[in-house]
Amino acid sequence: MALSNPPSKPVWDYAPAPESFRPPIAEQHGLFIDGKFVKPKSGKFMKVINPATEETLTGVAEAGKADVAAAVEAANKAQRKWAKLPGKERAKYLFRIARRLQERAREFAVLETLNNGKPIKESRDGDVPESAKHFFHHAGWCDKLRYAIPGGGDPKPVGVCGQIIPWNFPLMMAAWKIAPALACGNTCVLKPAETTPLTALRLAEIFQEVELPPGVVNILTGGPETGKLVASNAGFHKVAFTGSTEVGKLIIKACASRHVRLTMELGGKGAHIVFADGAIDQAVEGAVQGIFYNQGQVCCAGSRLLVEESVAEEFKAKLLKRMESLRVGDPMDKNTDVGAINSASQRDRICKYVNIARTEGAEVLECGVNATPKKGFWCMPTALAGVQPSHTVAREEIFGPVVALMTFRTVEEAVMRANDSAYGLSAGIWTEKSSKMFEVARRLRAGVVWCNGFNLFDAASPFGGVKESGFGREGGRHGLLEYMAH
Ligand code: NAD
Repeated sequence: MALSNPPSKPVWDYAPAPESFRPPIAEQHGLFIDGKFVKPKSGKFMKVINPATEETLTGVAEAGKADVAAAVEAANKAQRKWAKLPGKERAKYLFRIARRLQERAREFAVLETLNNGKPIKESRDGDVPESAKHFFHHAGWCDKLRYAIPGGGDPKPVGVCGQIIPWNFPLMMAAWKIAPALACGNTCVLKPAETTPLTALRLAEIFQEVELPPGVVNILTGGPETGKLVASNAGFHKVAFTGSTEVGKLIIKACASRHVRLTMELGGKGAHIVFADGAIDQAVEGAVQGIFYNQGQVCCAGSRLLVEESVAEEFKAKLLKRMESLRVGDPMDKNTDVGAINSASQRDRICKYVNIARTEGAEVLECGVNATPKKGFWCMPTALAGVQPSHTVAREEIFGPVVALMTFRTVEEAVMRANDSAYGLSAGIWTEKSSKMFEVARRLRAGVVWCNGFNLFDAASPFGGVKESGFGREGGRHGLLEYMAH
């Protein structure tokens, strides 16, 4: 039998595999204060949409000053009792939360994808298990806190924590904030981002199911105005923020005149360095994961790809070929690699940067399978070739599926270019030479450096930035210290 020749370009037309399960979503959501869902005193509600279809999913409350005050009061009332519970008793609650998250994993994954626009395979295999892992990990710490303190000591909570989070990993960011705070005996008031409050509100249902004492966690939905009210409320002993550097600075200013502990997890412009002796095919895969995961809406994305000149052309060709196979479209389809951008304004911001890159002289290479759907907010995976270190796209955070390709000739130049950024959150190195790996890793000014891999996380491993990427750590022993008084 004659075999037909393979097509010159691979065809990736999988049959659609849409997720068939859709959790019920209430028409309107109140605020979660003192263990109950309550109507906002502000009387205000806002729309929450699905960014892949622009359909309205539900309405959520917009917390005002009196709501913030009520949440702080509830958290304050609950704090002493919660802190007095023996660690092993607090641990039971955290274990139950983790187990319940696992049991309801599919519901949370679908809800996250509907609300955020990220591919279901990412929310299913990344966000939800990672969130459960954070509660499990911190459950284990509850009765061992004194071992987390350098030299040992008497663990004491900070008190009532105001926590403000962004929209790129809504459930995971909530877990990263709440789990260590609770483990150390603190109570919380969490404000999710305005576009993605749904999984945090559903997490509140789990808190009710596991009978977490009222007031230990309170969830206030709302936009920047609610965030400002949280940042300026004098009842907090700590404010923990994850979001843009710009807003981080405003929060630091708002807190400057009072005694309040701060952690700031801010923006990034990660350098991803590929040396000529690195495993090129694996590095291409790492680069793809580093910038197209979650549509590149990742603080630690490898958005500056620095490739050694002698392999730059080969690397670029392989990268573009790999990008050709990325499926863009319905986030609820299990085959989708790149889903919807979270909002129209974020999509416009990404387009603005791509246009700036074009006018500054970069070559814009858009790739990916299939045309984007008519409704919703989309960006094709994009590589910008010929970017110079002075170009705007090499300096400012784009926060989208756009990678800037640059070259270098020596180790010295690679380190200098990687460190030539106001940010210092993440970096990656691809080399087969361990001496080079350690030398470069040591010299990079970044909170986290991955070697021969990218975007690798573990609840036991601290994460956070330096320079304009912020201060403080989340995860591991270092993350616990942020929630203990000392
Ligand atoms: P953002 O700063 O606009 O908003 C983050 C949160 O702050 C939201 O809940 C928002 O409602 C609230 N907010 C906005 N203005 C406020 C104000 N004046 N006072 C108080 N709160 C306010 O960020 P975003 O667009 O939601 O998220 C994207 C940014 O987050 C990117 O810069 C990204 O790098 C960063 N980020 C950092 C990390 C990290 O760990 N370092 C993780 C995820 C995202």
